[in-house]
Order: sequence, then structure tokens, then C-alpha cells
Amino acid sequence: MNQDVVVCGAGAGGLAAACALGNLGLRVLVVDKRRQPANVPKGEVLQPGALALLRSWGVQRRLDERGAVHLTDLVVRDPHGDPLLRLDYGQLPAGNQSLATHDYPVILQSLSDSLGPSVELRRGVGVCEPLFGTSGRVEGVRVSDGDRQYDVRAAMVIAADGLSSKLRRAVGIQPRRADYSHRLVSFEIRDPAQTPTDLSAYVTDRGLRLCYPLPGNRIRLYIQIRADELRGFGPAELAAWLRLVLTDVPSLRPLVEPALAGLNSRQLLAVPRFVAPHLSVPGLAVLGEAGHAVHPMAAQGMNSSFTDAQCLAAQLCAHILRNGVMDADAVDAALREYGQQRVVNLIEVDQMSHRATTMITSTSRVGRALGRRAVRRTTANPRLLRTVTYNMSGLHMRPLSMLDRLCQLGLHDFRARRLPSPPARAHDESARWCES
Ligand SMILES: Cc1cc2nc3c(=O)[nH]c(=O)nc-3n(C[C@H](O)[C@H](O)[C@H](O)COP(=O)(O)OP(=O)(O)OC[C@H]3O[C@@H](n4cnc5c(N)ncnc54)[C@H](O)[C@@H]3O)c2cc1C
Repeated sequence: MNQDVVVCGAGAGGLAAACALGNLGLRVLVVDKRRQPANVPKGEVLQPGALALLRSWGVQRRLDERGAVHLTDLVVRDPHGDPLLRLDYGQLPAGNQSLATHDYPVILQSLSDSLGPSVELRRGVGVCEPLFGTSGRVEGVRVSDGDRQYDVRAAMVIAADGLSSKLRRAVGIQPRRADYSHRLVSFEIRDPAQTPTDLSAYVTDRGLRLCYPLPGNRIRLYIQIRADELRGFGPAELAAWLRLVLTDVPSLRPLVEPALAGLNSRQLLAVPRFVAPHLSVPGLAVLGEAGHAVHPMAAQGMNSSFTDAQCLAAQLCAHILRNGVMDADAVDAALREYGQQRVVNLIEVDQMSHRATTMITSTSRVGRALGRRAVRRTTANPRLLRTVTYNMSGLHMRPLSMLDRLCQLGLHDFRARRLPSPPARAHDESARWCES
């Protein structure tokens, strides 16, 4: 069986790649080992940059029809709910002034429903291994479909098979992971008396509590815990623990009873962090969580996975479709460019997400003091606040300089009121790829 592209994994990254490449008219086969997407509480917050790309693929309309919740503020709060730092997305360019939340399976369904006519999605088909040509180039994959195994040959393979990617390992790309020492427990809270109207990150002495609305009068709540904090807990101890940690944060006390009612919805999650050193080898691109992972607090993962997809489509456009030939040399030139461009941007996103995370999740006395100072100094500095808002939105990345970071620690900033001019192209990180 021959295809232009075979995408391994139908998560957000793989489906985004299939949307972007299907729009170029390429014949794309997407395979996923699961018959149904896993119902995990991940990837629910879409930044404006991610939404811009979803709009260009016709996906946002479907999400909105399915009740996506739009929010305009991302707020860091103290335990009483007083804002310490507010990212006001209302100051972003028109059309990009909100982030949106929805369940991950609904985001996947909306992506699947938007695949073009040249894309085929097969669920329940797992990838066993890559197929190598005599030159060592990847030329397809061996898949297993029930009892049957067969080979799919393609000009390009995309490894979008998630965090523990089999394909990434098989081609010898080994990321160095620097996972966070804490864990997150997530709860889905149904029918609370009051639903939040923004995404709030509460800074407490015991770490982060993150809270945002989901469609259908629900709330997602993440609680940071030590790795062994809940070890050996039965239902009664868990309920007592949940009551205690929520009562500790006055603003979250109204959630105690509905959260206890949803105790069984809890999921314990480790928090990985890495950027793969390479994102391509001849014949194969690594994309999405197979290639990078950041702390969920900054809600950057899908943004980055979608930008991977659009960047790959733009490079293929430049190297292949322009010449009208999809040969191995042109594909590999596109893959090299893709890898080089994405690694640079992903490292910037990783560093930004990590600094934001450290500010809020540190539980040591010094870490907490430095984190709170950085939050306060960013709020007091309109120039920094504007830069951070754009960086988080995924619309335009301007990494903080050493001077910016010293300002966050207390150095006086004479330019604090000099706002950076909006990027020449309103949403350049995403739009750059959409336009090309
Ligand atoms: C707790 C948590 C919260 C998060 N919250 C956010 C957020 O709010 N906003 C945000 O932008 N990002 C968030 N992220 C990150 C986001 O979820 C990921 O960036 C995104 O899911 C990446 O999608 P993916 O397609 O690369 O991986 P996945 O969603 O993991 O998909 C991989 C797919 O590959 C399939 N697969 C695996 N192996 C094989 C095989 N051998 N053959 C065939 N198929 C295979 C799997 O079945 C799966 O469907 C969060 C992550 C976590 C862990």
C-alpha cells in the first residue's frame, strides 16, 4: 500500500498534521492503535495561537458548535482569590482575544471531522516498527490490525505516537527528560454553585491549584502534590485530604462538596519535561508529544503540536509542491528545515513554560519568595506584562532577555512604560505558517 504520508497516532498532534497536509491535497493515512481516543483530562486549554490554526483548518467552528468555553483572562491569584498577575487577552489583536476550553476527546473529534477527502483515519491499527530502505532512510511502517500485519510504504512518515513514542526510539532520537518532581491530581467538578469566568492559577504554600471552566457547567481542578503524598490512601483518607487542601485555599472552599462528589473522577499525573534534540531523520518527522512536553500549567503543549503540523506543511509546500515532485530528496530537505526551525522555537516555549511553572509551583521558602517577587514585578511592569501575554498566547514569541529577568527580580526598569509595538504580523508564530 502506498501513501504520500503515513501519520502514526491520532492524538491532537497527528490529527493536526493530517488536517494541514490533507489541505495540501496529499494522500494521508492516519493510524492509531486505540479504537477510541482515551478519555484523559489532558489538552483542554487552547491558546489564541492554537485557535488561529484551528480556524484555518475549519476546526474552531466545530468546537464552538460543541459548546467550547471562551475566556479572556489568565490570572495568577493568592489563596484569597486576589489577583497577583493578570494576562488580559483583550489587548491581543482582534479575532485572537480569547482562549478556549473543551474536553480533549471533543477536540480530537472536531479535528477528525475536519480531515479533507484525501485523508483516511484507521483506528485500532498499531504501528509495530519503521521500515528502512537500503540507504537507511525511513520508507514506511509495519502495522498490526488485529491478527494481521502489513506494510504501509510512504514518502514520509510522521511519528505522532505520544510521549513514549516507539517510532522516535526506533530511529534513535533520545530526548533527555527533566521531569518535575511533583505530580498533579486532576478532578472534574460537576454542577458547582458558581463557575469561574477565567483560568486561575492559585499560588499557595503547598504549590499550584489550577482551575478553569469546561462546557456543561463543569470545572477542571488540578492540585499539585508531592510524588508520594497520596500513597496508600483509601477513599476515606482521600476525601479527608481533599477537604483539607481545598479548605486551605479560602477561594476554593465553595468547591469542597462538589469536588468530594467527584472524587472518583480523579487522575494522578506525572509531569514530563523535554525537547527532543532532533525532530527529523531522513523520511520521518517527530511531532507533538513524541518530540516535546512542557508543564500543563502554561497550556502550551497543543499550541506547539499544532505549530509543528503547520510548519511541516509549510516546508513541504516550499520544497515539494512548488516543484511538483514528491521525491525523497525534496521530502528530506523539507524535514531538515522543519526540524531546525521547530527545535529553536520549542526550546523558547520550554524555557518560558518552565519559568512560569517555577514561579508558581515552588514550595521551598526561597523558591516561593523569588516566585512571588517575579509575579509582582511582572505585574508592575507594563512592558514585561505585554511581552509575557504575547508569549503565552502563542501568537508571537519574544523570549525574555537577561535584563528582563533581572527586572523580574527587582532591577529598576527605565523602559517599563515603553510598550513593545505589536508584531508586524498580528499572530506571527502561527500566521507565519498559515501564510506561507
Ligand atoms: C495533564 C496534562 C494536561 C495538559 N493540558 C494541556 C492544555 O491545557 N493545553 C495544551 O495545549 N496542552 C496540554 N497538554 C499537552 C497536550 O495534551 C499534548 O501536547 C497533546 O495531547 C499532544 O498530542 P499528541 O498527539 O502528540 O499525543 P497524544 O495525545 O498522546 O496522542 C498520541 C496517540 O498516538 C497513539 N499511539 C501511541 N502508540 C502508537 C502506536 N504504536 N501505533 C499507533 N498509534 C499509537 C495513541 O493511542 C494516541 O492516540 C497537557 C498534557 C497533560 C499531560
